[in-house]
Amino acid sequence: MRVETKLVHAGEPRPRHQGAVSLPIYQSSTFEYAGATDYHDLQYIRLNNTPNHAALHAKLAALEGTEQALVTSSGMAAISTTLLSLLSAGDHVLAHDGLYGGTFDLLHHDLARLGITCTFVDARRPETWAAHVTPRTRLFYVETITNPLAQVAAHDQVPQFARAHGMVSVIDNTLATPINFRPAEHGYDLIVHSATKYLNGHSDIVAGVIAGRAELVGNAKRKLDHLGGALDPHACFLLHRGLKTLALRVRYQCQSALEIAGALARHPAVAAVHYPGLEAHPDHARARRWFAGAGGLFSFELTGGVAAVDRLFSRLTLPLSAPSLGGPETLITRPATTSHAGLAPDIRRRQGITDGLVRLSVGLESTQDLIDDFTAALA
Ligand code: PLP
Repeated sequence: MRVETKLVHAGEPRPRHQGAVSLPIYQSSTFEYAGATDYHDLQYIRLNNTPNHAALHAKLAALEGTEQALVTSSGMAAISTTLLSLLSAGDHVLAHDGLYGGTFDLLHHDLARLGITCTFVDARRPETWAAHVTPRTRLFYVETITNPLAQVAAHDQVPQFARAHGMVSVIDNTLATPINFRPAEHGYDLIVHSATKYLNGHSDIVAGVIAGRAELVGNAKRKLDHLGGALDPHACFLLHRGLKTLALRVRYQCQSALEIAGALARHPAVAAVHYPGLEAHPDHARARRWFAGAGGLFSFELTGGVAAVDRLFSRLTLPLSAPSLGGPETLITRPATTSHAGLAPDIRRRQGITDGLVRLSVGLESTQDLIDDFTAALA
């Protein structure tokens, strides 16, 4: 099956339950005892194993091309559970310097308090990595396309480097989605997602995914059973429904983002556009080689700095000023005051996130209407 067919058919019960074409919501916290001998196999929502979970797990594993997948109560639940299932006090992590702010904070503050240290490296420059590996380095963590600067790591080398040094490679595939990039095909061990974004695609739930080899996902599930970050069946239903249109939405959003980024790059009020779909982006060649599409999110800067950004926000009529991404509505934010507000100003500057940087998550509106709105607001 190709990916569009998997989105519709993979994981669906055959025969359908009671003939229902769309899998109904099994909103039952517990299920009649069916002879399970292991605690983790009892059917109970926190153990993530209702019929709604089972169908989603099979669909997501088929999409990512992995042995198993597991849904979680948020993207951060997927990330924190994955890291806690692999790391112990004294262990060390290599991570890309430019991760989503929540993940950076988790590594930098929360895991540091548990005795787990992290070195942030430039995942685009493999020649710099070996110098930071220690005998306790267990994990290499990257994002497929970073948020908001849209950097592309050396995905042809991270998994191999990790394996050669006895580490597990973990990638956050939220921005690319399995429509644009399937990390398991490139050798990554574990994939995490904020399913809140493109996978669900409707700005109405918070959810996460862990996918990968059965042994690693199984360990993450047992950890999740204790941490408690299960996804509610109603949210499972919404994610399941959203997934069916993933390919249509993501392809439209990529094309729209390319056109809007191009229009902004040509505008005299725009100082820089960070989108790997544009030839001028330093990671354009990598994006072309590995990705089916360069994603629906990019960032840009105005020649007039923060004051011009404030004027732009007050004049735009279509984009909503709200954090998050991947939904039908175009969302615009200043990362320095939203997704990356938790980072110290010097760390933000080191990562290239200027105070005037604007992030745009392109939605499903008419591309031309969005270009017209930007043109009018910038004028
Ligand atoms: N990973 C990326 C790349 C994100 O952008 C986000 C949220 O913005 C997360 C993870 C966290 O996801 P959630 O908000 O679903 O916990």
